Amino acid sequence: MEEGFVDCHCHISAREFEEVGTKLTKQCVAIVNRAFWVHLVAPCFGIHPLQVGGGSEQHSVKPQDLDAALPHFYKHRERLVGIGEIGLDFTPWCAPTQQDKDDQMAVFIKQLSVAKELELPVNVHSRSAAKVTIETMREQGISRALLHNFAGKPSVALEGVKAGYLISFPPAVCRNQQRDKLIKQIPLEHICLETDSPALGLEKHVRNEPCNIVLSCRYIADVKGVSPETVRLVTAQNAYRLFPKANRR
Ligand SMILES: [Zn+2]
Repeated sequence: MEEGFVDCHCHISAREFEEVGTKLTKQCVAIVNRAFWVHLVAPCFGIHPLQVGGGSEQHSVKPQDLDAALPHFYKHRERLVGIGEIGLDFTPWCAPTQQDKDDQMAVFIKQLSVAKELELPVNVHSRSAAKVTIETMREQGISRALLHNFAGKPSVALEGVKAGYLISFPPAVCRNQQRDKLIKQIPLEHICLETDSPALGLEKHVRNEPCNIVLSCRYIADVKGVSPETVRLVTAQNAYRLFPKANRR
């Protein structure tokens, strides 16, 4: 395992992951219990800042969404290798009001405190909220975090690096050169690989899969001028440093 690729952030039960509560947790646990997967898949559990309910529109998370899920963190604490996907998404059409932002913040902070209590790292989403996400985690005393699909400014990313956080990039980085500067500036020792399957693949509307991790590996290697083997090895070591329970499986 140590020398393979580690996909630090993917949603292998995507449809179910849009729901909150028992069904979600059951699905998560059922997948990791399947014999074939047991040594390959390490579960994280968390309430995303954006939820889908009723129609297909995404809406900002509400504190009651977390209340319903809270017991499951404790019930499955032994199996979980991290808390996530949690975070902040202040994209204007996702969180149009200050109340939406406040609710997201309350849900995020509560889950950071659960992570501290259970001594687990966090797997974090931030969109249009990179700076405030990092600041919040620092204020809350979080020392182990993955900033997934980070697309903030390099200077903000380096604040995260200073706090000891890791940053992961999906195959979608290969779509254009927008994040080359970011990838160049972040030391390889702070980079992880992810796919965010089924989203964030090379092509927008094609289902992404964990095997595409090789694409972000090659891309990062190209941008940094090192070999893909180096990126694979160092990012796997980084992943196991951040999620040590995933390495004891
Ligand atoms: Zn995700």
